[in-house]
Amino acid sequence: MTAPRTLFDKVWDAHVVHQEPGAPAILYIDLHLIHEVTSPQAFALLERRGLTVRRPDRTVATMDHSTPTVALDLALADPQARAQLQALERNTTRYGIRLYHLGHPERGIVHVLGPELGLTQPGKTIVCGDSHTSTHGAFGALAFGIGTTQVAHVLATQTLLMRKPKAMRVTFTGRLQPGVTAKDMILALIARYGTGMGRGYVLEYAGEAVRSLDMAGRMTLANMSIEAGARAGMIAPDDTTFEYLAGREFAPQGPAWERALAYWRSLPTDEGATFDREVTLDVRDLEPMITYGTTPGMAIPVTGRVPTPAETRDPAQRRLLEKALAYMGLRPGQPILGQKIDLVFIGSCTNGRLEDLRQAARVLRGRRVAPGVRLVVVPGSETVRRQAEAEGLAQVFREAGAEWRYAGCSLCIAMNGDRVPAGHYAVSTSNRNFEGRQGPGARTLLASPLTAAASAVEGRVADPRRYLAA
Ligand code: SF4
Repeated sequence: MTAPRTLFDKVWDAHVVHQEPGAPAILYIDLHLIHEVTSPQAFALLERRGLTVRRPDRTVATMDHSTPTVALDLALADPQARAQLQALERNTTRYGIRLYHLGHPERGIVHVLGPELGLTQPGKTIVCGDSHTSTHGAFGALAFGIGTTQVAHVLATQTLLMRKPKAMRVTFTGRLQPGVTAKDMILALIARYGTGMGRGYVLEYAGEAVRSLDMAGRMTLANMSIEAGARAGMIAPDDTTFEYLAGREFAPQGPAWERALAYWRSLPTDEGATFDREVTLDVRDLEPMITYGTTPGMAIPVTGRVPTPAETRDPAQRRLLEKALAYMGLRPGQPILGQKIDLVFIGSCTNGRLEDLRQAARVLRGRRVAPGVRLVVVPGSETVRRQAEAEGLAQVFREAGAEWRYAGCSLCIAMNGDRVPAGHYAVSTSNRNFEGRQGPGARTLLASPLTAAASAVEGRVADPRRYLAA
């Protein structure tokens, strides 16, 4: 009888092509997602070495980071962004790679597109030259971001050299209260255990609170694994996963679906399998969370107060907190609720899916954005945009006074013409709040779509729960 294995062990073992003792494993890659920012140098490297793309059929490209969101017009992109987008078009044509180009009706952020098309599947190894590739782990795939040289390596060989990370199980016990979401779960986890908790690990999220999340919520959770320092985050596939995938364009069909289902059902961690580390978080009393600082770990409940550096015992932590508060212009000990804001961004690969927009629309329906505040809503893909328009969500946003955009990374990264002005406060549903992430001097407060929408209505950091009664 074989020893009990974790979900991670099973996917890893199934993809090791070769392993010399003491050396990194050669891992087979099922799906390589590429985009305009990290691929041009990788293709240039291939060209210099006289290599070609080994499996164009397992490589899929999209345009997302640098694309304008006010209109689908390349002329609006700055010269550097335009050059990247044109290079992707050239390279994908040359090597016969499927490209979701600017005008494509299914184009989207790479981590929204893959699941939506059914390319992301349980048990696959998935890589992309982008940190938030961990998103795809929500399906029970082993998915992680890689560097530019590795992108070239995967293009040329469809494999990757990698030492096996350790495994950590993160169990969320209890059930969420109304108004509390997967975004709050992951912010609470990182606030509790720190941005370095996952270093050297692949996380597996488990527990009742995870099982009861829909796929959008699971993707939010897995997406931010990288913010916890982890290599990847995985969730065991179950009926929720299979229902999401059934009938999608690239999901297996007919007898192949039945075969895939039998394999996928064998993937969850075996009873008795051991992890290198286990952590638990009870979510029963969890409140909506928001960040106050410059890492995703600097997060508090919306009803909380900004921490006081003088009360922080560790001198290094104290200095980090002082620096973060100086950048954010927040006072130690002040309540975060009621902090005035200038802009709200709802979108990104963390929270730019249809379910996220539905949540935001629940709060915004029949209400107006506070005077002087901008609300920018950017769907994660063109498919999400069309669905949101068909459902009337876009109408809700427009009537509330929001800007309703085309799909793209937009204000998550500020390299596409969208940015938060210096000194302005932005409640953002994205995943990073580092200094300058949304533009030089921008002050980012990460939160869920519910909290973001409530804050847009009040023009201040707001508690979404008062908008959800009845
Ligand atoms: S939305 Fe943000 S985090 Fe996601 S892929 Fe785009 S830039 Fe990266």
